[in-house]
Amino acid sequence: MKILFMKKLILTLMLSISFFASQVNSAQVTYDYLNKTLNEIKGWAGSYASPWVYYDRNVCGERYGITAYVCGNYLQLGTQFLQNLENRYPLVAKGIFAHEWGHSIQNKRNIRYNVPYQELQSDCFSGSFTYYGENTLGYRGLYNSTSMSAYNAGDATHGTGSQRQYYVRKGYNTRGNPNGCF
Ligand SMILES: [Zn+2]
Repeated sequence: MKILFMKKLILTLMLSISFFASQVNSAQVTYDYLNKTLNEIKGWAGSYASPWVYYDRNVCGERYGITAYVCGNYLQLGTQFLQNLENRYPLVAKGIFAHEWGHSIQNKRNIRYNVPYQELQSDCFSGSFTYYGENTLGYRGLYNSTSMSAYNAGDATHGTGSQRQYYVRKGYNTRGNPNGCF
């Protein structure tokens, strides 16, 4: 009787472990994680921009805390901001980093579109990175997380959720080539 119970317990444990192993896990957004992502982004589009990157340093003077932001040749990321999103959309910190990298590309080339197309082009860049991330780096689920997070963060500046999702897809369809977003 006791052995049977143990067997059942072990089986239940094994099932739950395999269940969790099959999930895409959210990462801890540490500086190491971001540095690794920075190198990955350079591998994808390092020749298109070379911003100074800051973590948890408000070099752009954002008013309400550090989110993910580009000013001039500075790119700043707040780890708490990214962690909150990462918890909802695994790997999305990488997609957001790539979106900001897109703004750096725009700044380097003096690209200035009207609202919301400036933001939508950056969504295209992040979509382009998701293709590279999924197919070259093996980050399954990166596209889906980036797309869903963009969809749920539509606003007057960034475009509607549907527009954002459309441009992330457009970027994905470049098969990782940022040129497809110009
Ligand atoms: Zn943006």
